[in-house]
Amino acid sequence: MGGECCGSGPGSELFEIKKAGDGIWAAVAAPAYKVNCNAAIIETGDGLMIVDTHSKPSAARVILARLRDITSKPVRYVVNTHFHWDHWHGNEAYPAAYPGAEIITNDITREAMLRRSGGRIADHVRTMPAEIAALEKALAAATNASEKQRIESDLREARAYLEEVRALRPTFPTIAFEHTMRMIRGDREIELLHLGRAHTAGDVFVFLPKERTVVTGDAVVGWTPYMGDGFPEDWVKTLDRLAGLDFTRMILGHGDMTGREWLGLFRGYIADLIEAVRREAAAGATLDQIKERVPRDLAPKYEKPLSAYGDYRPWRQLILGNIERIYATAL
Ligand SMILES: [Zn+2]
Repeated sequence: MGGECCGSGPGSELFEIKKAGDGIWAAVAAPAYKVNCNAAIIETGDGLMIVDTHSKPSAARVILARLRDITSKPVRYVVNTHFHWDHWHGNEAYPAAYPGAEIITNDITREAMLRRSGGRIADHVRTMPAEIAALEKALAAATNASEKQRIESDLREARAYLEEVRALRPTFPTIAFEHTMRMIRGDREIELLHLGRAHTAGDVFVFLPKERTVVTGDAVVGWTPYMGDGFPEDWVKTLDRLAGLDFTRMILGHGDMTGREWLGLFRGYIADLIEAVRREAAAGATLDQIKERVPRDLAPKYEKPLSAYGDYRPWRQLILGNIERIYATAL
């Protein structure tokens, strides 16, 4: 990873910090065994806003350490874009480092965090030992050096993650809004927007109108979207509302920063997928037949752009879950 802007310290392999404008940075997460989301770092008149906090406090602490290379301002605000664990399980690191830091999201997401966090954390604690055992088994069976090295690295991460998730203290938002929250801090104007259901029921977009930049959470990502908690039909409409905003730069939930042209492709994938599933279902295809035909039909347009991360999040595999979700919710 070349540090394009801000030095390299411990943990710098987890994130590449990229300048996204005057006083705005994207911490773009590298693919990891336990996925980390991106963070956006935004200078405000009174300090810093951090958007999203990754899958664990140690990852958030890497960002905290890297902030020192960027600015001496304190973190005053943390925003969570949605309730998925890999976007907020690091929350506790920020008020620990900056007492009084406020954590902000919308009502729907805060409710979902409160309702689901206990179960989610317990799930991780319960399932990690089996995951670790599977990695140990794979390591024993591995035949070449590079495979061994990769599995060893995953294993180290998995063991460390189990320790960390056992000690996790879920840290919930201290401010919740309904539709829109506008903050004016010095010269910085920040709009926190809920534009409708998409990747989850409560996605939050962080929009900087003067800088024409939007932080999307997982409502837009650089690989195939996860739809398990999503609302595919609403998602397309929400992205149309997003397209109505005037921006040129997007900081995504996962994957590199992009221009707004990525939104067209990403929206197109969801819309075309819904249409293809409906068409096949209307013609009498079974779910299994749909899962065979639709990836084949959409591959020429979408496989390459949605496979920028190769085997890390394979399109051919993820599209099957997308089809199941559409089949269950949008026929
Ligand atoms: Zn997500």
